[in-house]
Amino acid sequence: MGTFLKMLELQLRQSLLGQGLKGEPNTPLIVSYAVTRACNLTCIHCHVSARQAMPDELNLKEAKMAIEEMHSLGTEAVIFSGGEPLIRKDFVLQLIEYCTDLGIITAMLSNGLLMTPHTALQLQEAGLKVVGMPIDSVVPEKHDYIRNLPGTFEKTVQAIKTCLAIDLEVVVTTMALKDTYTEMPKRLEFLYDLGVDEAAVYDLVPVGRGKDVMDNAMTMEQRVNLIRWLQSRQEDTEMTFTMSGGTPLYPEIASEMHRNHGTKAKDLLIKEFWIHKGIGCHAGNMYFSLRPNGDVYPCTFLPLKVGNIREQSLTQIWRNAPVLNTLRQRHTLKGNCGSCEYRESCGGCRGRAYACTGDYLETDPVCLRDLMRQEGIAPTDVKRFGWCVG
Ligand code: SF4
Ligand code: SF4
Repeated sequence: MGTFLKMLELQLRQSLLGQGLKGEPNTPLIVSYAVTRACNLTCIHCHVSARQAMPDELNLKEAKMAIEEMHSLGTEAVIFSGGEPLIRKDFVLQLIEYCTDLGIITAMLSNGLLMTPHTALQLQEAGLKVVGMPIDSVVPEKHDYIRNLPGTFEKTVQAIKTCLAIDLEVVVTTMALKDTYTEMPKRLEFLYDLGVDEAAVYDLVPVGRGKDVMDNAMTMEQRVNLIRWLQSRQEDTEMTFTMSGGTPLYPEIASEMHRNHGTKAKDLLIKEFWIHKGIGCHAGNMYFSLRPNGDVYPCTFLPLKVGNIREQSLTQIWRNAPVLNTLRQRHTLKGNCGSCEYRESCGGCRGRAYACTGDYLETDPVCLRDLMRQEGIAPTDVKRFGWCVG
């Protein structure tokens, strides 16, 4: 089935049937596959500490076998990431084509430095649906500081223009940090003027090199202010905003705030990767992360290896890994998340809980419960989860 028809089918299933993509529990609907750890940047907050390729990255045959198995498990979307996936361009192009033939929607996260007009066309022709690229500040020096290389701002802006020029959809990923979050109005205006119609605002999760810059994570007050501002900004723009990096309930919170405030944008918030299934953190529930060497993790932000596809089949890992099975049982959560009325529909960010406490079942210290209560969002109102993958 072509990607367009597939998208249509997914959207109809969501809007008319009000159910998950397959309506089945524990289906890995979305997989994030880091095709290489090699990167042409060393960003200061990189959660996979990318730099050099792993010595034992999967070859094409192994990767295709993994994708075939994802397909038989019910995977609907694969997000290719890295490192920088375009460092293995031919590899990734062949995998995108393979997914497209199987009817799997594909997205790719790239820093844009290798995005030439020819490459953008090749990606589009292979069937890539959307490419995510980062802009972390409208002040070029600040963006370049975060990306750890002068000149990257200009190159990424050019890459965004290159993709938009051929109507290849772009989602800009953008870090909200303590010292740059007030810049968000200017930043989103800049992106809008570029022609970008979706921005994914990232919060910092203390994983990989992200641990070294946690002093610059937003305060809780800033985070709540940002969510309120994004929601109000949504009222008068055609752009769509999401929040990622451990904020899985943002789409639902924003939608409910709109409903309560009598403002618009509910429809704008329903995007293709947001699925009716009130589970909040989908790590191990409807999502997993595949590493370049075949290691499987519940989420790219939760560095707990649950198996390797060279040693076991993906199906065995997905069905039997104890950590994955525990993540599917919210009554096993501890601390504030364990006793919370939003436990089933939110569950907290398991990656952040693990990073901050050493126990993936413990309290997520970044909790939006107070905001949800203030906004009158009942636990049963939460019906869908966001695309918060790295
Ligand atoms: S305590 Fe907070 S983070 Fe944990 S489940 Fe409840 S609302 Fe979610
Ligand atoms: S652990 Fe859960 S909430 Fe955190 S980033 Fe992963 S999927 Fe999102």
